[in-house]
Amino acid sequence: MREGILRQGVRHEGIFQGVGYEVDTTGEPLIVRLLYLLPEGGEPMECQVGLQTTGVSWGGGRWWFTCPLACCGRRVQKLYLPPEAQFFLCRHCHHLEYESRRQDVPTRVLWKMAKIEARLGTKKASFARPPPKPPRMWRSTYEKLVDQFYEAEMKAWAHFGLIAKEDLDPPQGHLRAHEGGRRARRE
Ligand SMILES: [Zn+2]
Repeated sequence: MREGILRQGVRHEGIFQGVGYEVDTTGEPLIVRLLYLLPEGGEPMECQVGLQTTGVSWGGGRWWFTCPLACCGRRVQKLYLPPEAQFFLCRHCHHLEYESRRQDVPTRVLWKMAKIEARLGTKKASFARPPPKPPRMWRSTYEKLVDQFYEAEMKAWAHFGLIAKEDLDPPQGHLRAHEGGRRARRE
Protein backbone atom coordinates (compact mmCIF):
# COMPACT_ATOMS: atom_id res chain seq x y z
CA MET A 1 0.00 0.00 0.00
CA ARG A 2 1.36 3.34 -1.05
CA GLU A 3 3.08 5.67 1.39
CA GLY A 4 0.76 8.46 2.39
CA ILE A 5 -2.37 6.34 2.48
CA LEU A 6 -1.38 5.23 5.95
CA ARG A 7 -1.27 8.16 8.31
CA GLN A 8 -2.21 8.69 11.90
CA GLY A 9 -5.70 9.97 12.60
CA VAL A 10 -7.34 9.46 9.24
CA ARG A 11 -10.42 7.71 7.99
CA HIS A 12 -9.89 7.17 4.35
CA GLU A 13 -11.09 4.95 1.56
CA GLY A 14 -10.12 4.29 -2.00
CA ILE A 15 -8.91 1.75 -4.46
CA PHE A 16 -5.30 0.71 -4.83
CA GLN A 17 -4.26 -1.77 -7.51
CA GLY A 18 -7.79 -3.10 -7.81
CA VAL A 19 -8.28 -3.60 -4.08
CA GLY A 20 -10.69 -1.40 -2.22
CA TYR A 21 -9.53 -0.24 1.18
CA GLU A 22 -10.93 1.56 4.15
CA VAL A 23 -8.35 2.84 6.58
CA ASP A 24 -9.25 3.95 10.07
CA THR A 25 -6.42 5.23 12.21
CA THR A 26 -8.49 7.58 14.33
CA GLY A 27 -8.40 5.28 17.34
CA GLU A 28 -7.42 1.84 18.55
CA PRO A 29 -7.14 -0.63 17.00
CA LEU A 30 -5.52 0.72 13.85
CA ILE A 31 -7.13 -1.14 11.00
CA VAL A 32 -7.51 -1.33 7.28
CA ARG A 33 -10.39 -3.14 5.71
CA LEU A 34 -9.67 -4.74 2.35
CA LEU A 35 -12.46 -5.32 -0.15
CA TYR A 36 -11.74 -7.29 -3.26
CA LEU A 37 -13.04 -9.71 -5.84
CA LEU A 38 -11.39 -12.97 -6.73
CA PRO A 39 -10.55 -13.63 -10.38
CA GLU A 40 -12.90 -16.60 -10.47
CA GLY A 41 -15.77 -14.40 -9.28
CA GLY A 42 -18.12 -15.16 -6.43
CA GLU A 43 -18.98 -13.10 -3.39
CA PRO A 44 -16.92 -9.96 -2.75
CA MET A 45 -14.24 -10.65 -0.16
CA GLU A 46 -13.81 -8.51 2.90
CA CYS A 47 -10.96 -8.79 5.32
CA GLN A 48 -9.89 -6.68 8.25
CA VAL A 49 -6.18 -6.27 8.77
CA GLY A 50 -4.48 -4.78 11.80
CA LEU A 51 -1.90 -2.02 11.40
CA GLN A 52 1.10 -1.23 13.53
CA THR A 53 3.47 1.69 13.67
CA THR A 54 7.07 1.84 14.72
CA GLY A 55 9.35 4.78 15.19
CA VAL A 56 8.13 8.34 15.31
CA SER A 57 4.41 8.55 14.91
CA TRP A 58 2.28 11.33 13.47
CA GLY A 59 3.44 11.06 9.92
CA GLY A 60 7.07 10.09 10.32
CA GLY A 61 6.62 6.56 11.58
CA ARG A 62 6.82 3.35 9.65
CA TRP A 63 3.63 1.43 9.00
CA TRP A 64 3.19 -2.30 9.09
CA PHE A 65 0.45 -4.81 8.51
CA THR A 66 -0.27 -7.55 10.96
CA CYS A 67 -0.60 -10.80 9.00
CA PRO A 68 -4.31 -11.62 9.40
CA LEU A 69 -3.73 -15.30 10.06
CA ALA A 70 -4.18 -15.58 13.80
CA CYS A 71 -1.48 -18.20 14.26
CA CYS A 72 1.01 -16.05 12.33
CA GLY A 73 0.40 -12.40 13.21
CA ARG A 74 3.77 -11.30 11.85
CA ARG A 75 4.46 -7.61 11.43
CA VAL A 76 5.03 -7.27 7.71
CA GLN A 77 5.50 -4.59 5.09
CA LYS A 78 3.48 -6.38 2.44
CA LEU A 79 0.52 -8.67 2.20
CA TYR A 80 0.08 -10.88 -0.81
CA LEU A 81 -2.82 -12.39 -2.70
CA PRO A 82 -1.24 -14.89 -5.09
CA PRO A 83 -3.27 -16.48 -7.89
CA GLU A 84 -5.62 -19.14 -6.53
CA ALA A 85 -5.36 -17.75 -3.01
CA GLN A 86 -8.38 -16.21 -1.35
CA PHE A 87 -6.85 -14.20 1.45
CA PHE A 88 -4.22 -11.56 1.86
CA LEU A 89 -1.52 -13.05 4.03
CA CYS A 90 2.17 -12.45 4.54
CA ARG A 91 4.67 -13.88 2.10
CA HIS A 92 5.65 -16.47 4.61
CA CYS A 93 2.14 -17.86 5.03
CA HIS A 94 1.52 -18.00 1.31
CA HIS A 95 4.87 -19.62 0.71
CA LEU A 96 3.93 -22.36 3.11
CA GLU A 97 0.62 -22.71 1.39
CA TYR A 98 2.39 -23.39 -1.89
CA GLU A 99 4.63 -25.96 -0.30
CA SER A 100 1.61 -27.86 0.88
CA ARG A 101 -0.59 -27.35 -2.12
CA ARG A 102 -1.37 -31.04 -2.39
CA GLN A 103 -3.06 -31.00 0.99
CA ASP A 104 -4.38 -27.48 0.70
CA VAL A 105 -5.09 -27.46 4.40
CA PRO A 106 -4.69 -23.75 5.15
CA THR A 107 -7.13 -22.56 2.49
CA ARG A 108 -9.77 -25.05 3.53
CA VAL A 109 -9.27 -24.18 7.16
CA LEU A 110 -9.35 -20.45 6.49
CA TRP A 111 -12.56 -20.80 4.56
CA LYS A 112 -14.08 -22.72 7.41
CA MET A 113 -13.12 -19.99 9.88
CA ALA A 114 -14.43 -17.26 7.59
CA LYS A 115 -17.70 -19.15 7.08
CA ILE A 116 -18.24 -19.54 10.80
CA GLU A 117 -17.55 -15.86 11.33
CA ALA A 118 -20.03 -15.05 8.56
CA ARG A 119 -22.65 -17.25 10.20
CA LEU A 120 -22.14 -15.36 13.41
CA GLY A 121 -23.02 -12.17 11.63
CA THR A 122 -19.69 -10.66 10.69
CA LYS A 123 -18.57 -10.00 7.14
CA LYS A 124 -14.99 -9.22 7.94
CA ALA A 125 -13.16 -12.40 8.70
CA SER A 126 -10.67 -11.70 11.46
CA PHE A 127 -9.32 -15.28 11.77
CA ALA A 128 -8.55 -14.30 15.32
CA ARG A 129 -11.52 -14.94 17.53
CA PRO A 130 -15.15 -15.82 16.97
CA PRO A 131 -17.59 -12.91 17.16
CA PRO A 132 -20.05 -12.66 20.07
CA LYS A 133 -23.23 -14.70 20.02
CA PRO A 134 -25.92 -13.22 17.79
CA PRO A 135 -28.99 -12.40 19.90
CA ARG A 136 -31.29 -14.94 18.29
CA MET A 137 -28.93 -17.89 18.15
CA TRP A 138 -29.23 -20.80 20.55
CA ARG A 139 -26.35 -20.94 22.98
CA SER A 140 -25.71 -24.59 22.12
CA THR A 141 -25.50 -23.74 18.40
CA TYR A 142 -23.16 -20.86 19.17
CA GLU A 143 -20.92 -23.01 21.33
CA LYS A 144 -20.73 -25.65 18.65
CA LEU A 145 -19.63 -23.03 16.09
CA VAL A 146 -17.08 -21.58 18.48
CA ASP A 147 -15.65 -25.06 19.03
CA GLN A 148 -15.41 -25.58 15.28
CA PHE A 149 -13.71 -22.22 14.91
CA TYR A 150 -11.00 -23.02 17.42
CA GLU A 151 -10.64 -26.51 16.02
CA ALA A 152 -9.98 -24.99 12.58
CA GLU A 153 -7.50 -22.56 14.11
CA MET A 154 -5.71 -25.42 15.82
CA LYS A 155 -5.48 -27.21 12.49
CA ALA A 156 -3.99 -24.15 10.83
CA TRP A 157 -1.60 -23.78 13.73
CA ALA A 158 -0.55 -27.42 13.61
CA HIS A 159 -0.11 -27.27 9.88
CA PHE A 160 1.99 -24.12 9.80
CA GLY A 161 3.81 -25.10 12.95
CA LEU A 162 4.86 -28.40 11.45
CA ILE A 163 6.51 -26.83 8.45
CA ALA A 164 7.99 -23.69 9.92
CA LYS A 165 8.64 -24.64 13.52
CA GLU A 166 11.94 -22.80 13.71
CA ASP A 167 10.44 -19.62 12.32
CA LEU A 168 7.62 -19.34 14.78
CA ASP A 169 7.92 -17.90 18.25
CA PRO A 170 7.95 -20.60 20.90
CA PRO A 171 4.63 -20.84 22.73
CA GLN A 172 4.37 -18.96 26.01
CA GLY A 173 4.26 -22.10 28.09
CA HIS A 174 7.53 -23.29 26.65
CA LEU A 175 9.22 -20.00 27.52
CA ARG A 176 7.91 -20.05 31.04
CA ALA A 177 9.10 -23.61 31.55
CA HIS A 178 12.53 -22.59 30.31
CA GLU A 179 12.76 -19.62 32.64
CA GLY A 180 11.52 -21.75 35.49
CA GLY A 181 14.24 -24.27 34.80
CA ARG A 182 16.91 -21.59 34.89
CA ARG A 183 15.60 -20.21 38.13
CA ALA A 184 15.54 -23.68 39.65
CA ARG A 185 19.18 -24.20 38.79
CA ARG A 186 20.17 -20.93 40.43
CA GLU A 187 18.50 -21.80 43.71
ZN1 LIG B 1 1.54 -14.67 7.96
